[in-house]
Amino acid sequence: MGVKKYNFYAGPAILPQEVMKKAQAELLDYQGIGLSIMEISHRSKEFDAVIKSAEQKIREIFGVPENYWVLFLQGGASLQFGMIPMNFLNKESAADYVHTGEWAGKAIKEAKLFGKVNIAATSEDKKYNYIPDKFNFSSDAKYVHITSNETIGGIQFQNFPDTGNIPLIADMSSDIFSRKIDVSKFGMIYAGAQKNIGPSGVTLVIIRKDLAEKCASGLTTMLNYKTHIKEPSLYNTPPCFGIYIIKLVMEWIEKLGGISGIESINNEKAALLYKTLDTSSMYRGTTDKNSRSKMNITFRLTTEQLEEKFIKEATAAGFIGLKGHRSVGGCRASLYNAMPLEGVKELVKFMEKFEKENK
Ligand code: PMP
Repeated sequence: MGVKKYNFYAGPAILPQEVMKKAQAELLDYQGIGLSIMEISHRSKEFDAVIKSAEQKIREIFGVPENYWVLFLQGGASLQFGMIPMNFLNKESAADYVHTGEWAGKAIKEAKLFGKVNIAATSEDKKYNYIPDKFNFSSDAKYVHITSNETIGGIQFQNFPDTGNIPLIADMSSDIFSRKIDVSKFGMIYAGAQKNIGPSGVTLVIIRKDLAEKCASGLTTMLNYKTHIKEPSLYNTPPCFGIYIIKLVMEWIEKLGGISGIESINNEKAALLYKTLDTSSMYRGTTDKNSRSKMNITFRLTTEQLEEKFIKEATAAGFIGLKGHRSVGGCRASLYNAMPLEGVKELVKFMEKFEKENK
């Protein structure tokens, strides 16, 4: 085993120990049936109970109103980048996109294949280190797309723009279930599961029923939202094991007091690390203070050589996954829901010690 490990990877990312222990305990014999949940039919009564419970808990904990569908899809958030414009745009119509960094950029690239794209706001002028607060929305847009948290850049919407009657669609891959959200303000929310709610392989889609009615016709079956609505996430074989883990993660969130319980721990964790960055002469946060992400905290040291040394020594001391994304360099600590406060306290202690030793 060696030193105790603290997992700061950006995704796939840390899962609650309690969830993994439960999954381990019932891996070979799910609730006395003598088989694993991984090796039984997705149409069995046992799996049916799992998927229904996962959906029910998502609805309760996240506050998903009745007029929304909850779907478990595959293909990652990246497939949603294409599926959204494929379903809701055509060559004659347009959508508004807010360009806040790498992930928003990928969504924009896909949308351009299907229709017209207006950039309603961008933070390109400052290397995407802030979330814009002025938006130039067009009245005829089919939807407005935002990335609620840019995992690479470390910026996060603190408030969501009011788009009136135009559906707001958000990629919440890296901050879903981390804070209270008014779902009714959105036309659609989507997220790859592998940061805050489960393993990779499942994409959660929450879509308002009237928006889903507007899906284009003539699409290949699997890429039409209607297919997965008609046969609730069971048109074909769903990612059963991932959905089962999501159910366990939801039970874990419930025990911690739901989203408000999680949110207050997340606030405390992020405040602790940002305070360390703000009071140090060696570390410096890379993003605008009003746009700081509570999930992915990006920072630099005074030189690249020092960053390399920091990451090497941190890794040896058990702090794993602190290297910034290859496209931007520097360092990044991802503090998803499952990272306990103790992990951040230990990281901060290590950072302070490193600073003293390398003055
Ligand atoms: N959007 C955001 C904000 C992400 O962080 C990621 C993955 N890191 C993606 C989309 C792409 O997700 P996936 O790998 O599930 O396709």
